[in-house]
Amino acid sequence: MEVRCILQSLDYDQLPPEDQELLVKAHEAASKAFAPYSDFKVGSAVRMSSGAIVMGSNQENIAYPSGLCGERTAIFAAGAQYPDDEVVAMATVSPSLIADSSGFSPCGSCRQVILESEVRQAKPIRLLFQVRDEKVLVSESASNLMPFSFRVLNDGLKRNKG
Ligand SMILES: [Zn+2]
Repeated sequence: MEVRCILQSLDYDQLPPEDQELLVKAHEAASKAFAPYSDFKVGSAVRMSSGAIVMGSNQENIAYPSGLCGERTAIFAAGAQYPDDEVVAMATVSPSLIADSSGFSPCGSCRQVILESEVRQAKPIRLLFQVRDEKVLVSESASNLMPFSFRVLNDGLKRNKG
């Protein structure tokens, strides 16, 4: 078995307008994050196949594990609002000074959730990551971030079909 992870590092100006728009929305989402405990604000914006854009940000809680990352807040909201749409792309950003562009990527739980959306729709999700106004990291597929992931036969959905 060979496992590969292919990411591009691009300047904002090199990106197509739809990517730039999604990043702007993600930064807008980050400004609404509730992150008083970590001081690490994260915003995500998800573009759906219908053209809708759904935003989410990290929502922390004093009972720390009860909070949720920006990526999952956004993608769960997208699934809740547009259950019949596919996820085309997702931008995730942080404006926070403690964010490190060399290590800014989703946590393992978010990777699992994003990847499951990708597997379910059988179409890759384009992922964009940016810290502040630095270079943008681009992945053409969620599987790049989690190449050896947890899966079950039939995506585990068979038992729900009766
Ligand atoms: Zn996460």
